[in-house]
Amino acid sequence: MKNIAILGATGSIGKQALEVVRSNPERFNVQVLTAQNNATLLLEQALEFKPGLVVIGNESLYGQLRADLSGTGIQVLCGEEALSEAAAWPGTDIVLTALVGAAGLKPTIAAIQAGKDIALANKETLVVAGEIVTALASKHGVNILPVDSEHSAIFQCLSGETGNEIEKIILTASGGPFRGRSRDFLATVTRDEALRHPNWVMGAKITIDSASLMNKGLEVIEASWLFGLTAGQIEVIVHPQSIVHSLVQFSDGSIKAQMGLPDMKLPIQYALTYPERIKTDFPRFNFFDYPELSFSKPDMDTFRNLKLAYQALQTGGNKPCVLNAANEVVVAAFLEKRIGFLEMSDVVERCMDDLPFVQQPSLSNYLETDEHTRIFAADLVTKQQKVHLI
Ligand code: NAD
Ligand code: MG
Repeated sequence: MKNIAILGATGSIGKQALEVVRSNPERFNVQVLTAQNNATLLLEQALEFKPGLVVIGNESLYGQLRADLSGTGIQVLCGEEALSEAAAWPGTDIVLTALVGAAGLKPTIAAIQAGKDIALANKETLVVAGEIVTALASKHGVNILPVDSEHSAIFQCLSGETGNEIEKIILTASGGPFRGRSRDFLATVTRDEALRHPNWVMGAKITIDSASLMNKGLEVIEASWLFGLTAGQIEVIVHPQSIVHSLVQFSDGSIKAQMGLPDMKLPIQYALTYPERIKTDFPRFNFFDYPELSFSKPDMDTFRNLKLAYQALQTGGNKPCVLNAANEVVVAAFLEKRIGFLEMSDVVERCMDDLPFVQQPSLSNYLETDEHTRIFAADLVTKQQKVHLI
């Protein structure tokens, strides 16, 4: 029996993780559930899975949730700090970080310090402070098990390859809803068009990141920390069918791929049961339904975010943290229809150019960089809006 904490239980990954738990009640026991705003679903989940603790981020929802759960024996906490308490909660073996954005950093660190394995969906944590997080994980002897489908694929390909040198890895990208489109086209796309991903149903932020290829950029940085690779060892190829989830090329030239229908429940389950595989009734892939799988080069001149992410990784220090914070601000602004699609990369680039560079940041340097970048980026967004009004 594995005792699990799910941070971000009401989101796309959180809900699918609970489906995995629901199908395997003899294996998993949910001890902790957290959410930011969706108290209604969190309550439903708490009544079904009976964890020891639930945390609601939004403090204004605390009173009602506590009243709704009174008499159940479930402890209820609220606020940002409670999230770190939830991550370090005694009696859990593994923490699934399914919350979105840099908000995942502090609770992930708290979980590692408490000796929990991490099932990592929250890629932003490794983008912001990969060096600190991975060093801490090895110090405390905990595993960081990837949930992101590409990284799970690489992780699965590396199974049984201890000691064998990786030449490079190849991350596949679906290309999103605007694959093959020009900058002129992208200048006019709407929020709703960007939210229509061809292959995956996900939270809003990662869906916009997929349309802008920032998601793949964040994944390049995530992969460099998870697998100890340089930017030059990480290639991205566009594969619109999302069947080959990623590949590893070894020093003898051999390439291993992991394949399957796009379904996040598989990588979520693998992270939770690792090193075991357990039987599922998920639909199986059939080659005859896909007579052609295609692969092409990403267009980094049109989708500039991918190039910016490579640059951030190559420069190192706090650059990826700046990239991530600026991106969180512009994606929120795009979702609120306050800036256009292409302006997102403009703001990210300006932040990368203008925010002070720190070569070897401490945790507090990262937190400061995150905060300053958000202020600077928000200001740029407001200025862009004014230009439009004129
Ligand atoms: P989502 O928006 O659907 O859900 C986010 C969850 O986090 C919700 O439960 C929400 O309540 C909580 N949350 C949001 N902001 C928070 C904050 N500031 N503090 C605490 N909790 C907060 O997101 P998602 O699509 O499930 O993605 C979650 C993470 O997993 C992201 O980092 C994403 O990049 C990664 N990921 C998602 C998918 C996918 O298929 N959805 C695939 C790979 C990786
Ligand atoms: Mg992914």
